[in-house]
Amino acid sequence: MVVGGVGERDGFGGYRSQLVGELSAKGIKDLAVLRAISQVPRHIFVPEAVRHRAYEDSALPIGGGQTISQPWVHARSLELARLTGRERVLEVGTGSGYQTALLSLCADQVFSIERLPALAQQARDVLALLGTRNTSIMLGDGTLGWRPYSPYDAIIVSAASPEVPQPLVEQLAPGGRLIVPLGDRDQQVLAVCTKGPDGHVSCQTVSDVRFVPLIGQFGFPGEAG
Ligand code: SAH
Repeated sequence: MVVGGVGERDGFGGYRSQLVGELSAKGIKDLAVLRAISQVPRHIFVPEAVRHRAYEDSALPIGGGQTISQPWVHARSLELARLTGRERVLEVGTGSGYQTALLSLCADQVFSIERLPALAQQARDVLALLGTRNTSIMLGDGTLGWRPYSPYDAIIVSAASPEVPQPLVEQLAPGGRLIVPLGDRDQQVLAVCTKGPDGHVSCQTVSDVRFVPLIGQFGFPGEAG
């Protein structure tokens, strides 16, 4: 199952094909994204108790009060990032690491930040099991970005933010795309923001979404821990 063809012969290929069919029926067109979804074994990124639901198009609990996003949300975010395979990408909110794995197939280098130690470690372990070599996961506050590797051609924020965190604007390359759910803690719109040559970002909203909150200096204030 592991290394090389990612999850190609693990016995779940049929379920993944079904999911790919469902996502294309829901309007996902980017073939590289659909191919990544057909290859990455989502079931190994979710807890045993919900493994039987891994190929449903729904969000699932992953522990620590967090969720793995609905596959359609990942697919749409990746599509909006318009990746060609040559990009350096920053992901904020690693969570399960599933989107990190998708990104590893759609971009050149992936830097991902998670604030919860248990999730960061679990994601590292699963990605290592898959033989993924172009991803790095850092424990920390992703609203601050990961400056040493910036600028990024694309930034995908996987948690809901009250506004676009300024450090991420600074770390986006000119012409780069930043995908972020903007709103309050309960509901958001998925926004795609582009950085112009003057350094300003302009955002367009794409669809209503619901993410867990982005907790950090440029996000929502957190409870202790
Ligand atoms: N794409 C991930 C989404 C996980 S949910 C997946 O599908 O598995 C969002 C994640 O963002 C959670 O794991 C949460 O702990 C994390 N998060 C929230 N605020 C953060 C911050 N400031 N920096 C890094 N990670 C953060």
